[in-house]
Amino acid sequence: MLPSRFASRVEGGGTAVMGRSHALSGAVVWLGGCALAAGLGARPAVGTVVVGAAVTAGGALLPDVDHPGSVIARSLGPVTRLIAQGTAAGAAALRGASCRCCAGRGGHRAVTHTLLFAVAAGLLVSLLCWVGGDVAAAVVAGLATALATRGALRKRTRGAYGAAAAGLFVGVMAAALPGPVAGWWWVGLPLGLGCLVHSLGDALTFTRVPLLWPIRIRGCRWAPLGMWAPLRFRTGSAAELLLVVPALIVLGGISAWTLIAP
Ligand SMILES: [Zn+2]
Ligand SMILES: [Zn+2]
Repeated sequence: MLPSRFASRVEGGGTAVMGRSHALSGAVVWLGGCALAAGLGARPAVGTVVVGAAVTAGGALLPDVDHPGSVIARSLGPVTRLIAQGTAAGAAALRGASCRCCAGRGGHRAVTHTLLFAVAAGLLVSLLCWVGGDVAAAVVAGLATALATRGALRKRTRGAYGAAAAGLFVGVMAAALPGPVAGWWWVGLPLGLGCLVHSLGDALTFTRVPLLWPIRIRGCRWAPLGMWAPLRFRTGSAAELLLVVPALIVLGGISAWTLIAP
């Protein structure tokens, strides 16, 4: 168990992009996509926009389940902490087993930060919602929203109540709305997209991610891929706080306005 001061530093900055940037970027990508679709003449349903944005935002926090100090690992106390520890151990074992030069490199930013994971997670959730219908979709939407809200808020205790309320709201909304496009199977799409947005976000920072595992690049299946070095930013840095977060808020605002304005 990490001392809480260290854990919050890991979560708030250090080696990982802040939870807030991840959740925000997920929501903004979905809203932007809906705004683009609306611009091209499609009419996205309210449920598609709101549930999709919430699930993308929540999905954008999922890959850090491989780190015991992350937002998702701390979201439900010992339960999620155990899940995170198990994921970290499993991811470390998989990394060591699938590449000879990668033994002992740990489980963080490994399998959950790959394109394959994003696709698999999306397919799994789509299957779940296709079989489980309204109930499954409401549970996925509610959990994702609660997670995204916790990631977006800074104060932990206040975040818990706000997150529960927001999760309940979107969950009930998902259950009450008629499935926008022939049922809820599409909910896996925002979830997988959220995972991918997370990994791409991490790729902009100094540590980068093994996005294309298991494809071998320069002899390594877990070769870190990312932004051209001079343009990478340090997480929790001034660049993230003063440039990335405000840019995301402006983009999200413009997209939302495009969708609401007549
Ligand atoms: Zn990450
Ligand atoms: Zn390797």
